[in-house]
Amino acid sequence: MILQDQVAVVTGGSRGIGRAIALMLAKEGASVVINYTSSDDKAKEVQNEIEALGSRAMIYKADVSNEKSVEEFSKAVKKEFGKIDILVNNAGITRDGLVMRMKEEDFMSVIEINLKGTFLCSKYFGKLMMKERKGKIVNISSVVGVMGNAGQANYAASKAGIIGLTKSLAKEFASRKININAIAPGFIETEMTKKLSEEVKENYSKAIPLGYYGKPEDVANLVVFLSSSSSNYITGQVIHVDGGMVM
Ligand code: NAP
Repeated sequence: MILQDQVAVVTGGSRGIGRAIALMLAKEGASVVINYTSSDDKAKEVQNEIEALGSRAMIYKADVSNEKSVEEFSKAVKKEFGKIDILVNNAGITRDGLVMRMKEEDFMSVIEINLKGTFLCSKYFGKLMMKERKGKIVNISSVVGVMGNAGQANYAASKAGIIGLTKSLAKEFASRKININAIAPGFIETEMTKKLSEEVKENYSKAIPLGYYGKPEDVANLVVFLSSSSSNYITGQVIHVDGGMVM
């Protein structure tokens, strides 16, 4: 167990990639706080699974794009656990469409949750890490933020923004021994990708040298490494988990 006595917060931990991250951090001994916005039952299930593994778990319903909520969230974690060691900014949404048809609210909601949410959580949980003079922040970006994607201008902009935010935070927080890295997953099988048309899925498959889609656990494995002391000399990096899709 490489994360014994560590406290981790996973935003969007109720489903998909966030769920796999929460479970894998717990398997390594961390106490895990699962954040979400609407899936009460799924969040509770993840809490039960974590407790069955012998780790402590807490669920916290909060919209990461709301500053007041994030501030209260950080205070609740401090009250319950006294500290935070690991923050995984995973919560994210898509509102796909071509730019010519995209409504301003669809552009803004994706930027608000994906990018502003990452900024707000890094600010408030980073403040707690600064007091401890140590910490690990892992931001979930996307290959789409590196290469762009027709029909996903809002999502690509939010994920490219996360890369710039990661590098800036890495420079600002380095003196406090807080490492900040980003992961750029490719096509991972979750509810988010289930929504895509068969044609889009087939095009994705053709572009993956390894020839198959990734699983949430493929991303979670890297999160564990980036949350552990094995990655102490790595900061400000963007690491792809994409079967070779973008290189
Ligand atoms: P998902 O299955 O749709 O799960 C999204 C999670 O985010 C849920 O737990 C959801 O909570 C939470 N969430 C949504 N809005 C929120 C908000 N305002 N505040 C707090 N939590 C919120 O997505 P996923 O496929 O696991 O993706 C997870 C992350 O990986 C996202 O950032 C996504 O952009 C990124 N990613 C995914 C892929 C992929 O192929 N799947 C590829 C690259 C990057 P509720 O359950 O309460 O709704």
